[in-house]
Formats: sequence, structure tokens, C-alpha cells
Amino acid sequence: MTTSLPSALVEKIRQSVNPQRLVDTAVALIEIPSPTRSAGDVANKLAEILTQDGFTVERPVADWPEAPAVVVRFDTGKPGRILQFDGHLDTVHLTFVPPRVENETLYGSGASDMKGGIAAFVEALRVLRDTDSLPGGSVLLTAHDHHEGPWGDRRQVHAFIREGYTGNAVLLPEYLADRLPMAGRGMMIFEVRITREGEPVHEVLRPANLPDVVKIGAELVTRLHKLHDQIKSNSAPFAGHDSVFVGSIQAGEIYNQAATLCTIKGTRRWVTPGSAADVRAEFEELLNQLARETGAQIAVDFELQGEAFHVEPGNAIVGAFQTAYTAVTGAELPMGNKPFVDDGNTYCGIAGIPSLTHGPAATGAHTLYEAAPIAELVRVAQVYALTAIGYCAG
Ligand SMILES: [Zn+2]
Repeated sequence: MTTSLPSALVEKIRQSVNPQRLVDTAVALIEIPSPTRSAGDVANKLAEILTQDGFTVERPVADWPEAPAVVVRFDTGKPGRILQFDGHLDTVHLTFVPPRVENETLYGSGASDMKGGIAAFVEALRVLRDTDSLPGGSVLLTAHDHHEGPWGDRRQVHAFIREGYTGNAVLLPEYLADRLPMAGRGMMIFEVRITREGEPVHEVLRPANLPDVVKIGAELVTRLHKLHDQIKSNSAPFAGHDSVFVGSIQAGEIYNQAATLCTIKGTRRWVTPGSAADVRAEFEELLNQLARETGAQIAVDFELQGEAFHVEPGNAIVGAFQTAYTAVTGAELPMGNKPFVDDGNTYCGIAGIPSLTHGPAATGAHTLYEAAPIAELVRVAQVYALTAIGYCAG
């Protein structure tokens, strides 16, 4: 299904991406620390860079006055589709690592996740403008805070969707380069708290019929594993299958004291877009049943991390991406799953906007050792610009 782009155009775009200008932009963003919920200064910096480049910058509050979002609409004024370049400016809460370029690689907080990728978006936008290559439609650049969990709750992406700061398709520069993610699972983190009436008490002094929260916790783990066995047959192409996973169980102070609290934490993942509410109801019913049987109180907190999504392989954004990717690398990118949850799960799974995650083959996300090869940043800037040319013309 891949059509090709004129080779002179491909060459012009490839030559126009300026590695030094791209790296300078990334360094300027990385050198401003921006842990999640504190991305105001770096958002101001990005707005300043884009303004100096001659773009008209909007700063919608997007439900987070501490760091109004950064938006540029690069519009040809001709009919066509809107391609959204969306990235998060916040980084995980780890010790700040300043930017550094060494061995043709960019290092520092956010180099991989994802200030390097945002700099590639900015460079792609400059190239489209300087070469006057976008035949129609527009590119919408959006950058925001509030991405990384558990500190952020993705409110700015939800605000973009509510307020119409969205395109007909979205590209996201998360560090995934070895496959084109066509689907991904929804995910929620659960924390179950099993409690009983009364104080902690010595094992031999317990009243009869005192609910045993450790035993009930163990029973719950068994039932959750049974639930996993039931739902794992629910599968979808590329996404995988539904699952329940228990990663933590905690209870008790010492070996012969009857505890009052047992806490169980884990994840529930699913493949069917739009089923977060059903998944939650099913889980709550299982807990209510156990509470009725045992006389314990069982409470649960869910943290929704993202909806399940899938992108239709025949969608125009997939064809435009593969055409661009092939022009730059010589072959199509194999289709696959998205192993993590990113903002594409929200754009695609909740708002129904086809979203593709493709970024540099960078390493060290969520560690102190983020590293993005400059050749990869240049490559993705070329792919982004060429994808826009193919997609936006409509
Ligand atoms: Zn990220």
C-alpha cells in the first residue's frame, strides 16, 4: 500500500534537517529541569524558541496554570488533514542530569524521554516551512506537562481533547523505534485494602470468628489468578491479551500477631478499547463477593493509566508514515504492539484519533542514563517531516 515520495523532495527534506540546530534545541530544553507538574519554565523556553523561529505560539492553560501548554499551528491555508505532533515536556522525578553531547550522542534528563523527540518535531516544522514542502493541510505542534505517573494525571492531554487542540492523527516521539505500534493494552493499577474491626491482637488471644486478613488476602490473590486464567483468552492482534498481575502483598507486624490490614497491589490490563469501566466493575464485584463471604472490609483504589487502543492498518496515517519511513531507511517498519502506555492511548483509545508512537532508538528512559544518538534524532525529524507531507495533503 506504500506509495513513494518524489526522490528530489525526499533528498531536499533530508538535506534540510540541520543536526546542530536540532541538538541545540534539545540541549536548551534539557538544561531546564522539568519534573512532572513543574514544566512551566521549559514550556516557556520552548515557546521562546518557536517564537524566535518566527512561528505563532499559543499558550492554552489546558487545565494546568503552572505550565500552560505550547501550541503552534503551521497551516498551509490549503485544504488537507491536520497532523498533530504531540510531546510531553515533563520528566520523571529523578536527580537532574545536565545535557551533554559526546560520541555523537545526546545525554541528560529527557534526552530520550522525550525532549530529544520534541526537538526533532521542532526541526521537522522548521524544515517544512523553510522548504515550503507541505502541499496542504496543517501541522499542529502541542507540548505539555503532566505525563509521567504517578506524579501527573495527563490532564493537559484531556484538556487538548476537550478544547479541540487535536489533529486528524497524532505522532508521538516516545523512544520506540523497532516496530510501528498498531495496538496496545489499557492498564489500571489497583490497590486493595482488606481490613477488619478491632485492634491488632496476639494470635492466642483472638476472639473466635475474627476475620483473618492474611488468609483473606491469600484467597484474593488466588481468585485474581483465576480471573487471569479466565480473561487471558481475550486477545487482539498486536495488543496481546487481558491480564491480572499481583506484584505486592503486605500484612502483619510480627509472626504471632493477628493483623488488621492486608494490602495487595498489581495491574489489570485489557485489549478492548473503551472497556475501562467494565473492567473496573468486574473487579469490584469480585471484591464485594469476597467481603460478603468473609466479613472483612475490602476497599480498592484504581489508577487508570491509559485506555486500550488500536489503529486500523488501512488508515492514511499508517500509509503516510510507512512511505516516509521507507524513503528514509529503505524498508517499511514492521507492525507490532506498544509495550508501554503513553499519551497515544488517550488520543486513540479515548478520543478515537489514530495515533502512532515512533521515536529515536534512544536508551535509558526513566533512569539517570538517558542517551539519544544524534543520528536517530535526525532520522526521526526527517521521517516526521515526510510523514506530514504525505498525510496532510489529504
Ligand atoms: Zn515519555
